[in-house]
Amino acid sequence: VTAPLNDLRNLVGADHLLTEPVDVIPYSFDGTAELNQRPMAVVLPGTTEEVAACVAWAREHRVPVVTRGSGTGLSGGSVPVPGGLVLGLTRLDRILEVDPNNLTLRAQPGVITKAIDDEAARHGLMYPPDPGSLKISTIGGNVAENSGGLRGLKYGVTRDYVMALQVVLADGQVARLGSACVKDVAGYSLKDLFIGSEGTLGVITEVLLKLVPRPEARKTLLATFPSMATAARAITAIIAARIIPCTLEFIDQTTLRCVEDYAKIGLPVDAAAVLLMETDGHPAAVADEAARMEAIARAEGADRVQVAADEAEGARLATARRQAFSALARLRPTTILEDVTVPRTRLAEMVAFVSETARRHRLQIATFGHMGDGNLHPTFLTDERDAEEMARVHLALSEIVDKTIALGGTVTGEHGVGLAKKAYLKRQYDPASYTLLRAVKRALDPEGLLNPGKIFDLEPTPP
Ligand SMILES: Cc1cc2nc3c(=O)[nH]c(=O)nc-3n(C[C@H](O)[C@H](O)[C@H](O)COP(=O)(O)OP(=O)(O)OC[C@H]3O[C@@H](n4cnc5c(N)ncnc54)[C@H](O)[C@@H]3O)c2cc1C
Repeated sequence: VTAPLNDLRNLVGADHLLTEPVDVIPYSFDGTAELNQRPMAVVLPGTTEEVAACVAWAREHRVPVVTRGSGTGLSGGSVPVPGGLVLGLTRLDRILEVDPNNLTLRAQPGVITKAIDDEAARHGLMYPPDPGSLKISTIGGNVAENSGGLRGLKYGVTRDYVMALQVVLADGQVARLGSACVKDVAGYSLKDLFIGSEGTLGVITEVLLKLVPRPEARKTLLATFPSMATAARAITAIIAARIIPCTLEFIDQTTLRCVEDYAKIGLPVDAAAVLLMETDGHPAAVADEAARMEAIARAEGADRVQVAADEAEGARLATARRQAFSALARLRPTTILEDVTVPRTRLAEMVAFVSETARRHRLQIATFGHMGDGNLHPTFLTDERDAEEMARVHLALSEIVDKTIALGGTVTGEHGVGLAKKAYLKRQYDPASYTLLRAVKRALDPEGLLNPGKIFDLEPTPP
């Protein structure tokens, strides 16, 4: 290591610069299987000024910087790059202000997602985006990935709730993008460029979020179906009946059996597909929508519909979906969670293709996901130490990606491109838009030091 790390140590204090293997190893991977890389050092700044000084230091010494929240990412976004510095933001963990009159909340990037909604709840408000990782992921990571969640169908994704950002740019300057105004069309929407930019354009050091009134009532239903096709038909019928539930999730039989084994909820393990449906809003509207959804599910062939009597039972039923990933992760040493997304009406076809691909390649793939959004999580249960099986996994994955694109879908609906989807992005983008993507990176980070090699590779700039 030639870069003068002592400058960094003096900047943040000795406790906040980690260089020993035992200290940096926990920062060498995220939630993505097969990817890890030990960083040169990990710096944990405590203020925006310190973040800016770290970025300026990295630029001076030409050290790549990988920004990191909680490291729960599922595309390798916060996996270090060789010789790189990890910029960990977990010390920036304060909620700075709630403004119930303007319906906004201002926070530092290291605040845990659930803490944002908990704080909003104290004011009778709600922060809707609820990724499955909400108890551990940071709001900075959510903005950088434009994360979605279980309430996406009705409420949208993180981008829909970001009003303004404070960002440290590649040259160490601090920029404020967006505003607290509901309407703001002054210039390009620069903040939107940073939402979903996966740490490749700048470091988010503050967020101003939009809140909504907390719904007074919520009702949860769990329906079981004899086939994925009948479950899909029920969903189409619900939406055709002009009901937009806040949650419309499905789990397949493999996932169902794992969850039941893990959480002992009393789920009917013989069902081929389970739908978790939730409606929220005014109590009268909720009661009406729940009754109509139950009737539609039965009419479309549901074997059984359980309607939660109260919030506690609703939360118990929702556990089936919320714990899907943890339950599946127990089965085999390696869990690869994908997030291909297709237009809603093509979802049943996509699920059938995934099952058929699993059979053809002799692989175990469980599938669950956001049926209302067309976003599915084919989850490969495998073992990364078995090279022969991994070759089949990658082949199957590639076929699933091609099918997704053929159906008009996207290679990632939630988890971002990072390293894991980099090779697939080119298949989805046309040459003109792929060039545009890289032109944006060059304009904002001309030296290519912010999370280099993520999303795409840049050709070296001519000398
Ligand atoms: C069990 C489980 C369930 C999940 N469920 C969902 C889900 O339902 N929906 C969903 O969308 N995702 C989900 N994820 C993926 C993941 O939790 C999200 O992508 C989350 O937003 C990552 O937050 P993080 O703080 O862990 O970020 P990290 O993993 O640390 O970083 C993610 C990316 O953001 C960048 N980054 C982080 N902070 C900043 C910042 N302040 N400024 C600039 N760049 C930054 C990093 O460089 C990296 O590229 C799940 C993951 C797990 C493990």
